[in-house]
Amino acid sequence: MRALIDLFRLDTSDAELARAQFKSFSRQMPLLYAILVCNALAITITYADVTAPFSTLVAPLAMCAYALQRALWWWRQPTAAATLSDAKIAYYIRRTCRLAVIMTLAFEGWCMWIYPAGNAYAKGNLTFFLGLTEVSTVFCLMTLRAAAMRTAVACTLPFALYFSWVDQGQWLAQTIVLCLVSTGMMVVTLRYNEAFSQLVRSRATLRKRQLETEKLSEENRRIAFSDPLSGLPNRRELLARLDRLESRHDLPANTLAVLFIDLDGFKAVNDEHGHQAGDALIRSVCLRLSQHCPPHSTLARVGGDEFAVVIEGPDAESSALILGRALLEEIALPVLVDRHVLQVGGSIGVAANTDVEGRPRELLRRADTAMYHVKTRGKGQVAVYDVGFDEGRLRRLTIEAQIGRGLDRGEFEVFYQPIVDAQSGAIVSVEALLRWPRRPEGPLPPDEFIDIAEATGQIHPLGLFVLERACRDAALLDGLKLSVNVSPAQFRDPAFERQVMHVLEQTRFPPSRLQLEITEGYLLANPERVVGAVESFKAAGMSVALDDFGTGFTSIHYLRSYGFSHIKIDKSLLTGLAPGSKATMLVTGAITLACGLDMQVIAEGVESEMQANLLRAAGCHELQGYLFGRPMPLEELQRARDIARRAAGETVRLVG
Ligand code: C2E
Ligand code: MG
Ligand code: MG
Repeated sequence: MRALIDLFRLDTSDAELARAQFKSFSRQMPLLYAILVCNALAITITYADVTAPFSTLVAPLAMCAYALQRALWWWRQPTAAATLSDAKIAYYIRRTCRLAVIMTLAFEGWCMWIYPAGNAYAKGNLTFFLGLTEVSTVFCLMTLRAAAMRTAVACTLPFALYFSWVDQGQWLAQTIVLCLVSTGMMVVTLRYNEAFSQLVRSRATLRKRQLETEKLSEENRRIAFSDPLSGLPNRRELLARLDRLESRHDLPANTLAVLFIDLDGFKAVNDEHGHQAGDALIRSVCLRLSQHCPPHSTLARVGGDEFAVVIEGPDAESSALILGRALLEEIALPVLVDRHVLQVGGSIGVAANTDVEGRPRELLRRADTAMYHVKTRGKGQVAVYDVGFDEGRLRRLTIEAQIGRGLDRGEFEVFYQPIVDAQSGAIVSVEALLRWPRRPEGPLPPDEFIDIAEATGQIHPLGLFVLERACRDAALLDGLKLSVNVSPAQFRDPAFERQVMHVLEQTRFPPSRLQLEITEGYLLANPERVVGAVESFKAAGMSVALDDFGTGFTSIHYLRSYGFSHIKIDKSLLTGLAPGSKATMLVTGAITLACGLDMQVIAEGVESEMQANLLRAAGCHELQGYLFGRPMPLEELQRARDIARRAAGETVRLVG
């Protein structure tokens, strides 16, 4: 029973469904009123009687006028439906339900009122149009279940009661038919409504999903085209913008420039202070770069520590150069992260569309190449692209591939250069120097491939290979000390200390015979790390020497604080060594100072007796250079040592 009552209940709680119902039936409403008017007029024509003007003329005409006014109102609604509030729609639906029943009853009441006055033809006409009105009303309101059901009942019940009884039941058959039709219509209405609300609901779900998908794809787009750390456009977005510029064929020469920026020393920050500190540094650099870039320029983060700026305007090349220099200063400003002062530098390449081939995407490549050129020439500069840079880069890329191949094939070898005691001339130590026969292209000196291996990370396997091989070889050189070069990248690696200890364990080489050499340039950039590493190596019994002293800017006194036990004077300081020359005074001063600070001094690149004598006189402890022996394979060194031992039997005791 409750379920039956529910079929007649009006429910506007589902706003989405109510709106859809309103939209659907409001389109039918003018038609419904038009049918009502026509049917009323059709009945009026057969019943018009001047003797009873109120019931046969005034009443139907008043009903028609009201119906027309309602039709007009509904006519305007479909366009307004989208702007109506949910509450308004619910109100109109409730009103329609009410009015549908009232109008139906009014029409039916009027029909029953005038029915007795008609002849047989008029009566037949009236019952036909009354039935027709009911059917069309229910059909027009079908999407609004409550209204359709109530109308069907409100119309059928009085009809059945009245017409099964009036005129000795002559309309009984028609009444039964109408009752059956009404029941059928109600069943159809229920089914149709069910399908309709299901459709509306699935459409709503679909729309919700579509909105979610759109939101998701917008988010995906944002992620795909921007860098999550800085919020700046990423490489993909930059390329898209460059492509848009590429399609513009009206770009005058030298109006577009690209700057490619790479941070110097960022990897060290990450290694030593962790990725969080690295991220904070990147964010701070991004902020400063974006504050300095001109309006309408594009600043993008194209890699971990790589950025690109695209600028447009007259004389783009010069503007980019000026901007590049300003950005370098900004990048170099120290940043405070977690009570650590972090500092990085920058290398910048610039390329402008000064020639026809300088299309936007090509400019990015050129600026990158120019940046790469800066990297190989000491960093911290801005360089404008030159065609020659491409050759250099290609060469470096080729060497990089060859190093990889060389490592796989075990092509690398280690040579040893003797280091002699300055006073006795006896070999006291050897420096391990990497050699690469590089087959089939021919040998390549370490100066030309070590920095490439550093940049690519290949220095790690290469450096470990040298250390291990040298320790195994030097174990055969009874009592000699061994010096091994360590590149800054290895020194930076927190795992390096552990790796060295592991090699020493494996080769059983005594730590006290091992000396690590590190170049001066690295000290300035990473003082904290150097002090820590030197300390731990010394604690393990090794000694650490500062290589190539004189090529950097560090004072000897400053070096003392790092804890180095030895310094190696670079060969460049030895050129011009002659009695009484300025070079001699300089080297002598440096040696005196180092000795005063308890550091041993080794001079490298000694080629003449005169240089050796001057260095000896200045107090230098050990000498290394072609004068005493070139770098040579282990066997050759052993042979040379044997010959030297035989020639001066005494010396053996000194070094053994
Ligand atoms: P370095 O460590 O300063 O090594 C000394 C360089 O001077 C060696 O060059 C050596 O052959 C050269 N030399 C020695 N005596 C003389 C001389 O009397 N006159 C002249 N003109 N040169 C002399 P090499 O072997 O070409 O190595 C160059 C640089 O490559 C080394 O400089 C070192 O920085 C680097 N290197 C070599 N092997 C390794 C290695 O295994 N690991 C790392 N990280 N670097 C290495
Ligand atoms: Mg060295
Ligand atoms: Mg050196």
